Amino acid sequence: MEKPEGSPPSLVSREASAASAAGSKDKRAARSGDLPAHAVAMALTKAPASRCPRTGGLFALRVDVSPPVAAPVSCRTWDCPTCRHVKALAAFAVVSDGIARYQAAGTRVRFLTLTDGEGSMTVPELYAAWSRFRQRMRRREMLDEYALAIEVGSRLHLHACITGRFIDQAHELVPHAEAAGFGRIADIRAVPPLARADTLAGYITRAEKSSDALQLARYLTKSTAEELRDRGAKRVRPLRVSRKWEGGGLTEGWARVKREWYGESEGKWEVVHASQYRPQLERLERMRLVAARPSLEDVATDLLAA
Ligand SMILES: [Zn+2]
Repeated sequence: MEKPEGSPPSLVSREASAASAAGSKDKRAARSGDLPAHAVAMALTKAPASRCPRTGGLFALRVDVSPPVAAPVSCRTWDCPTCRHVKALAAFAVVSDGIARYQAAGTRVRFLTLTDGEGSMTVPELYAAWSRFRQRMRRREMLDEYALAIEVGSRLHLHACITGRFIDQAHELVPHAEAAGFGRIADIRAVPPLARADTLAGYITRAEKSSDALQLARYLTKSTAEELRDRGAKRVRPLRVSRKWEGGGLTEGWARVKREWYGESEGKWEVVHASQYRPQLERLERMRLVAARPSLEDVATDLLAA
């Protein structure tokens, strides 16, 4: 494939020359402009597709490896019909990692469900009740750290993985839930053992089909941003974790998904638009070198539906 006139040498040849110059470090960072356009186009055809209405056509290109790797750029909002599925996968990483780390350290994790008794609660009212509940339970050492998700159904439910001492369902949980403003229907049980896994698929294989972390992530994909807004949510933030939750927050979860899908990187990602490589992409298309790829949201939903 011909290169545009005056283009700098490719990443591959630069790496080779850098390696031959013993001891000398190549200080110039790799850039997408340093790569042959067909190599970038090839990377784009291998990346999952994305139907994100906000960032369609934008790809992050990892230029520190050869051949380069491309990943669709995500808007990372819960509002997005596409990206919320990947966000739920990131949430799954946060919850699974948290459970596995606590259990490895001998800390029990429990799965808690609280409900709106009357069926008229708004999302802010549910969070206010949670805040009261948390304070009551914290004072009694029954609730330490948590990761929670909201489920929107005919009435609102709150599901959380929590740490803290044993809570007696009839004598402690129900009275405190009611005192905080929740309904009588409240449930708590131990989370079954979940060993640390290096991959998200590993967690899914290890866990039962009804794993609590998976269940929590599924609630996040089930309730849409519109449904949460209809219930009065001003900011759509269906996953909440306490500051010290061992699995980290969504930023860490997102980084983990990215690392797992596209490899370890020192931040050498560069954003390109597919339209910049239209001639090369069309040529690959003509040569039938473009295979059908699952979309980003398909990969995420398939994993969570496993
Ligand atoms: Zn999006």
